[in-house]
Amino acid sequence: MTDIVTLNKPSHVKPHTSYPHLFSPLKVGSTTLPNRVIMGSMHTGLEELKGGFPRLAKFYAERAKGGVGLIVTGGIAPNRAGVTAWGGARMTRNRHAIAHQQITNAVHNEGGKIVMQILHSGRYAYTPFAVAPSAIKSPISKFKPRALSSRGVKRTIKDFVKSAKLAMAAGYDGVEVMGSEGYLINEFIASETNKRTDEWGGSFENRIRFPKEIVRQIRENTTPDFIVIYRLSMLDLVHGGSSWDEVEKLAKDIELAGANMINTGIGWHEARIPTIATMVPRGGFAFVTKRLMGKLGIPLITTNRFNDPENCERALADGCADMISMARPFLADPHLMRKSLEESPESINTCIGCNQACLDHVFEQKIASCLVNPRACEEDIWHDASIVKPLNGHKIAVVGGGPAGMSCASELATLGFEVDLFEKAKSLGGQFNVAKKIPGKGEFESTIRYFTNLLSSLNVGLHLGESVSEDQLIQSGYSHVVLASGVSPRKWTLSGADRPEVVNYLEVLNGDVEIGKTVAIVGAGGIGFDVADFLTHDSEASGFLKSWGIDESLSNRGGLSKPERSVSQRKVYLLQRSPGKPGSKLGKTTGWIHRVTLRKRGVEMWSDIDYKHLDEHGLHLSHPEKGSVTLPVDNVVICAGQMPFAPLLDTLENAGVKVTCIGGASNARGLDAQRAIREGLKLATKLESELVSE
Ligand code: FAD
Ligand code: SF4
Repeated sequence: MTDIVTLNKPSHVKPHTSYPHLFSPLKVGSTTLPNRVIMGSMHTGLEELKGGFPRLAKFYAERAKGGVGLIVTGGIAPNRAGVTAWGGARMTRNRHAIAHQQITNAVHNEGGKIVMQILHSGRYAYTPFAVAPSAIKSPISKFKPRALSSRGVKRTIKDFVKSAKLAMAAGYDGVEVMGSEGYLINEFIASETNKRTDEWGGSFENRIRFPKEIVRQIRENTTPDFIVIYRLSMLDLVHGGSSWDEVEKLAKDIELAGANMINTGIGWHEARIPTIATMVPRGGFAFVTKRLMGKLGIPLITTNRFNDPENCERALADGCADMISMARPFLADPHLMRKSLEESPESINTCIGCNQACLDHVFEQKIASCLVNPRACEEDIWHDASIVKPLNGHKIAVVGGGPAGMSCASELATLGFEVDLFEKAKSLGGQFNVAKKIPGKGEFESTIRYFTNLLSSLNVGLHLGESVSEDQLIQSGYSHVVLASGVSPRKWTLSGADRPEVVNYLEVLNGDVEIGKTVAIVGAGGIGFDVADFLTHDSEASGFLKSWGIDESLSNRGGLSKPERSVSQRKVYLLQRSPGKPGSKLGKTTGWIHRVTLRKRGVEMWSDIDYKHLDEHGLHLSHPEKGSVTLPVDNVVICAGQMPFAPLLDTLENAGVKVTCIGGASNARGLDAQRAIREGLKLATKLESELVSE
């Protein structure tokens, strides 16, 4: 038996020279941070969960252990009106400070530093007690806020200060004052949301009095070594947002008020422009922070869609900022910084910007997790991924090298199983090899790269290009066979479905067929939307900033310009049988982006379709408002769901082999990679308890 080893520990530590800017220390007030990366604020849902604090402490401690320079907690409200939703976390009492000590102690024990974000939701509060500078409802809120009285404004400032003092008592190294994303402070600054006539409204000077007073009074009431970060909305992306001159003036005044650092905020929550989704280019908003560089005497932090050491290093070297804030990448890999320093970036489990398990979960009032790392926020539940156990004498075969199979094989190997992974394609990845071809989903390649690297470092027997047979599996004496063989596309049964113009999504995305100028896509689920995007995307089109109407010159208020519309040369109909809005089951935080994108390209999205038949004239259907319609299409692309693909199952079971199906092979309904990867981890853990601990 081999000894327990720590995975990926290098034989020698790589010098800092690969990322000289990233790993240069930074002095902030009297504190020296070891590197230039902040873990940005993320609400996890553990803040409100009964018994969630020990889990939260473990979550943050793991990131501190992973070497991040400074951690910012999820937003904590300074008073009852400021919570994001009913029962939301607050820092208003001594008992709150005592509870938070679990977090600060755990982080400090790992040598990390952590600041608490104070966030007052303002009119975004999902409660009837929402307050705002003026009683103006947000387009994304259900509740109309009450306008704060002048006394109420002063009381709110005092609440921010009290919260900061309690944070200090809790052992935090500082606070971040949340002044962006359209929350209360931002609402005071923008004239569209602040119609007050007292000293807190009217002129710009009056409107910025609120954040300035908050920062000034926090500074006055905390010790000099207590870090005060102000998150400043540098690009509001809403009508009537700040002009660049105003942003600059506010930043200078905030420095004078006593802040130690300024962090960047991009876009209000109600802005209809993607700011962190996967189609936003990596580091795509760093140009905004760069504009402020050299104007202040305190460090500036840039943010949005940074996810690996290379793009952080480049932004720092280009003088875009003094520090980089990354949030989701630390869900995906808590040890991102340690790996950047000690190993190769190839070993990092990179955040793919999907939002599926993090932001979408939070918006659905579920605990945040991560599609590529199901351990996120569950660090207390699963085995430590960085500890490889000694061989336990059991040999397991995994059939299929998609997300489910790659996850299961790597977890099994970590738990001490000898693993053979069979993949009939020449490379690992399964459907991720297809997903990565969708415009904006190129990041999916990094998950394949991560697992490929991990599996070989764990000495998993990789049998690529091998469609393993039942006999082989039966004769090899495996303790267990894991079938992760995925799915097959569901066939269409309509009259005319056997015509040559009918193709499935795999044939289209793999480039196996020529697609004509007029296309009907049958099925408006995630894959249907992706295929529509693929068929209408024009790589020569205007680029992200122009197509979404972001003013790169920063000369317009709110950073807005007229979006460039690029109607596709190809006519695409995206059809669904069910009633309701097409794509209503897409991710909460990204579904609207897909709909807007397709609409801008001229894609027609129809629901409640009754398909009739297909013939040489086209696709015949009936629509509730349009009546009987014949679409003269060149192709019909079937994206009408998938079926589990596990042809080996029956023979293996009949031969008495112990088999378990995971991922698509187990259940194709509602399948996504989040479920597939999680099932791999779950099954490996179960097999260990059944086979090894028995
Ligand atoms: P698969 O990925 O299908 O892998 C199964 C593997 O088994 C395949 O590689 C296959 O070659 C292999 N195999 C089969 N039989 C054998 C055999 N006998 N021997 C050896 N190997 C065999 N999910 C998301 O969560 N988010 C997204 O944004 C997203 N976008 C997508 C976009 C597209 C265009 C597509 C097609 C899928 C997308 N998905 C997305 C779905 C996601 O890719 C799947 O849910 C996931 O890949 C399922 O994982 P799996 O391991 O169960 O199956
Ligand atoms: Fe990143 Fe997706 Fe994980 Fe969220 S769920 S952290 S976006 S990989």
